[in-house]
Amino acid sequence: MTAQRFDLPDIDAFTRPYWEAAADGRLLIRRCAACGTAHHYPREFCPSCWSEDVAWEQASGRATLYTWSVVHLNDLPPFGTRVPYVAAVVDLAEGPRMMTEVVDCEASALRIGMDLHVRFRTDEDAPDGPAVAVFAPDPPAGSAT
Ligand SMILES: [Zn+2]
Repeated sequence: MTAQRFDLPDIDAFTRPYWEAAADGRLLIRRCAACGTAHHYPREFCPSCWSEDVAWEQASGRATLYTWSVVHLNDLPPFGTRVPYVAAVVDLAEGPRMMTEVVDCEASALRIGMDLHVRFRTDEDAPDGPAVAVFAPDPPAGSAT
């Protein structure tokens, strides 16, 4: 028997392109043809002007850190085995603000506005599960500047 998990998305016809791109290492956002605004998470209408003339667009993967919290306790499987981790909100280069996780960075090295780049992680406990967008320092932490 498998424990209930709280991290796996329900993928439907609308979100399938997003998850297929993620499996391919590409981050998709949605952009409105009527007003030009990009948004994320994906919606079938534009949250700025309510137009339904919205299409998928590949994001650059670049982002800056808006805010974060280091999570030390989480009772929901499978997060309890992952603590501590960095829950974060990042500003994508294209504009949308996205909830995510920052990886490969010591909490003490996190800085508001630091440059990040997307990468995709597949859970080793759910190898058939979705690739999830997380962000890491860009350039990588510890690299010479
Ligand atoms: Zn719009």
